[in-house]
Amino acid sequence: MAHMRLDPDTLLIVNLANLLVMATTLPLIMGAELSDSARAARRALMIQAVSWIALILSGFWPGTWIDWSLSTLAMVCISAANWLIFLALQGWLGRRPYGRTLAVLALVMPVGYMLGFSSYPFRVGWSNLLIALQFLILAIATLRSNSALGGRWRWVMMGCMLTMAALTAARGVMGAWFTALYPSFTAPHPINLAALLAANVALVLINVAVLVAWREEAEHQLRRQAITDQLTGVCNRHGWQEAAGALVAQAQRYRLPLTLVAIDIDHFKQINDTRGHEAGDAALGLFGRLLGQGQRSGDVIARMGGEEFCVLLPHGDATAGEGFDRRMRALLAAEAPAMLGYSMNFSSGLAVLDLNGESLESLMSRADAAVYRAKQGGRGQLVVALPYIPRPFVASE
Ligand code: GH3
Ligand code: MG
Ligand code: MG
Repeated sequence: MAHMRLDPDTLLIVNLANLLVMATTLPLIMGAELSDSARAARRALMIQAVSWIALILSGFWPGTWIDWSLSTLAMVCISAANWLIFLALQGWLGRRPYGRTLAVLALVMPVGYMLGFSSYPFRVGWSNLLIALQFLILAIATLRSNSALGGRWRWVMMGCMLTMAALTAARGVMGAWFTALYPSFTAPHPINLAALLAANVALVLINVAVLVAWREEAEHQLRRQAITDQLTGVCNRHGWQEAAGALVAQAQRYRLPLTLVAIDIDHFKQINDTRGHEAGDAALGLFGRLLGQGQRSGDVIARMGGEEFCVLLPHGDATAGEGFDRRMRALLAAEAPAMLGYSMNFSSGLAVLDLNGESLESLMSRADAAVYRAKQGGRGQLVVALPYIPRPFVASE
């Protein structure tokens, strides 16, 4: 074992081989239908492979214009790959900090490298230190998710980025201030060997992380589809039951106002009968979209079946429910004639959750009864539900 040697050239070639294999097999594994994030991550890998090829080739013509062009190309590719990884993370996890800083670093790094190429200490110090900062920003970008995604793959990604940042920075410091220790990219100094080895390990781990993120994204999409009504884009009954149940429990527990508006489109059968089922579907689609436009963050909107919808307004009292109803009527009056060529109307019932333990079922049945009274009263109107009568009171009657 005493004679075991890690050879930088071999490590470089192994890195390149791994990169090329991954860059070519990933498209086969992942297929053509990819999200923007997954596509960006995959492109980052391919561009990274180009950067390593350019870097290795540049070594064959040291100090010439070919070296200069190929090395600069490598720097451009490294910046581009890091930027793409940032975009992928942003797509998966929501808006990430320091995006602008990363963009500036990504531009300034290759430009400075190209202009200062004649000085080895400058170009090596400059490029490695700025690349280390890029890795640092990518590590920070794995912190805190503000989307539904964000499993443990983030920690793997962060570990890789931090390790790469540290070793790349060390390389930069050596190149700039201890040039004798690091006279070339393939110098056998322990730090350089560690960096090359880490690059290889990181490559594998980052790809595993990307694949897991991609799977998490697909799972999330499936889950979303399972609770979404395809025709209208709002929640389906299953999604409603989940979200509304949670909101009622929360409102009861913290004594927060919660208002339900139940909606039934008027004379919908006529639309189907006179204009056809397709036209009915189009009308439902528009109705769902308009409901979505009136939606505020936290509101739950669902199609309960047929032409019946429910809207739940957390932290909202009767005024909030009336406001939603009014906005929806105004939207529908403006949009239906324009989008469908005829006008539509609806009847609705409003019920405010009674905070003395009323259940979702009771709230819904009170709102439904109010819809029924709205129909009886001539349709096209909102009716407020009768108050909740707790069971013990009914029993003693
Ligand atoms: P009212 O004013 O009393 O509510 O009259 P209405 O015609 O809207 O009431 P009703 O509940 O009798 O009719 C609902 C119709 O909605 C019946 C059904 O054909 C139609 N419908 C239910 N689901 C769909 C759908 O997915 N697409 C289409 N095009 N029509 C649907
Ligand atoms: Mg109906
Ligand atoms: Mg109806």
